[in-house]
Formats: sequence, structure tokens, C-alpha cells
Amino acid sequence: MTEPAVDPRTVTEAAALLRAGRLCAFPTETVYGLGADATDADAVLAIYETKGRPRFNPLIIHCADLAMAEALAEFSPLARRVASLWPGSLTLVLPAKKGNGLADVAMAGLDSVAIRVPDHALALELIAAVGRPLAAPSANPSGRLSPTTAEQVRQGFGGTVPVLDGGPCRAGVESTIIRVESERLVQLRAGAVARAEIERRLGLAVAVAEKSAAVAAPGMLASHYAPNAQMRLNAAPRDGEAYLAFGAAPDFDGVTRNLSPAADLHEAARNLFAMLHELDAAGVGVIAVAPIPEEGLGEAINDRLQRAAAPRD
Ligand code: AMP
Ligand code: MG
Repeated sequence: MTEPAVDPRTVTEAAALLRAGRLCAFPTETVYGLGADATDADAVLAIYETKGRPRFNPLIIHCADLAMAEALAEFSPLARRVASLWPGSLTLVLPAKKGNGLADVAMAGLDSVAIRVPDHALALELIAAVGRPLAAPSANPSGRLSPTTAEQVRQGFGGTVPVLDGGPCRAGVESTIIRVESERLVQLRAGAVARAEIERRLGLAVAVAEKSAAVAAPGMLASHYAPNAQMRLNAAPRDGEAYLAFGAAPDFDGVTRNLSPAADLHEAARNLFAMLHELDAAGVGVIAVAPIPEEGLGEAINDRLQRAAAPRD
């Protein structure tokens, strides 16, 4: 797709694109997704091509409701209990149902499938209008910062991908991914719902996958979510750097953004990618990032920051 894209103005127009096997980016409460009909192998392949995403990295399947999700995966009683938190920023990895109609490439050939019901009115309307599950990874070139506005999607793909504009995303980081095993829950990726909150709402413990088990979520590549600038974490800014602050910030003359002057982790998560985009646009070589507490949503924020700072190929 190299032609300039014409953005859909309504859910109906966006649904028509998707039903015709085309890609269309759309808003969710976490980040913008690059959507395709998950039952259409060619459409799903176009996601991998457009993002430059490795084929072994399976996609999250977005459903309009639990009924749509139950047609795709086996829900144990435990899975059903966790799914009671839907709609929400929580993705469940479950055994795939045989013959569920999903394109094999969407699941990257695995016998499990990652599913969620997003908590975003426009996204739910769109999936319902398409009438099929949508594969939708973040709408950015693979490895780069995730987009939280329609404009960032347009910039990321040079205007070649149509975008349904629903305004800025309210959570701002990707969903939390939980694998439902026979008797326990394992977090594969920290995300927009804090693990402690999931535990509190379910009254169940959630284990954390070991780092080496990160291959269990093949998308958990070390370098990811990267801006152009290098990143220095848990750092005070030096001359010539940009500064991403959190809470009370030291005086600094350079380009600065504060994730949350009040040290609120929800606000910080919402601002994270947008502010990294902004600091990157200032063209600095290094972004220094203040320490973020490793509690609640800090787990997801620090995960994204570490990937953004990881050595790149
Ligand atoms: P994204 O859609 O880019 O936010 O990322 C999707 C994430 O879900 C990646 O980290 C994938 O590896 C992970 N994922 C998708 N399907 C599975 C699965 N069947 N098992 C484990 N992780 C999965
Ligand atoms: Mg992504």
C-alpha cells in the first residue's frame, strides 16, 4: 500500500474497508490498532508487511463480546472468570478452538490464541459492524513507539494507512497479557491494567512469567517501542539531552516533558508514548528518564522504557 490513504469518516466506512479485506487503523482505549479481518489470511499478511513485523509474532484478536470470543477459544471456568473483566485492557491467551476460522498467520501457527474485548465504544461498534474478529497489533512500524493519536499513525506509515480517528487513547499503553493455565494465571506482558488490580478484582493470584519465558509471548522482543533517540533510564538530565520527568522535577534548561507532575501512574501511562514522540521530534540524541516506581502501572511503564532503551540491531 503506497497510495495516500483516504480516511474513513464513519464506523460504517471503516467497516466496509475491513470487510473488503483492506487494513484500517482504529482507536482502542490502549493504543491505536492496525486492524484487519482476522479470518482473511491475505488481510492479516498485509498487517505483517505494513508493520515490518516478524511472522513468528502472533497478533491479538479483538472481539465485540464474549460470544464472539467463545467461538475462537476454549474457555475453562477459570478463563470465564477472568473474562468477566471484559471489556477491558486485558488480553487472555487461551487454547484455540479447532476450525475457529481465524487465519493461521494471525496466530502465527500456534495452537493458542490471544483475545480481548476492548473497552472503547468506537472499537466495539466497528468490530460489531464488521461482524468478524479483528486482528489488530499497535498501528506503528514494528519496533517503534506505539501511537496514541490518529496523527501518529499517519506519520508512522507516511499516510498510506486509512485511520478511523477517535481522538487520543485514554490508557496509552498496550493491554496486559495473561495466559490462563489449567489452575493458574500467568502475566506474559505488563500492561494497562496493573497486575495488583487484576488480583484484587478477581480475588486470585497472578504469577509473572520469568524473563526467559518471554518467548511464551513471542512479541516480547528486547528492543521495542523505540524512539530515534537513545534512552538513559533512572537518570537526571545532562546538557544537550531531553528530559522525561515524573513527579517533582529538577530545574532543567533543555526540552522537558513531565509524565505526571503529581506522580500519578495512570496519567504517566497515558502520556508515555505521546511524550516520547514529542521529545523525539525535538531531534535530541538522548532522552534521560526519571525513575518510575515499580508498582501498579509502573510495571508496564518500566517494561516499555526498558525495551525503548535496549540495544538495537
Ligand atoms: P501486539 O499485538 O503487538 O500488542 O502484541 C501482541 C502480543 O501478544 C505479542 O507479544 C504476542 O507475542 C502476544 N501473543 C499473541 N498471541 C499469543 C499466544 N498465542 N501466546 C502467547 N503470546 C501471544
Ligand atoms: Mg506493538
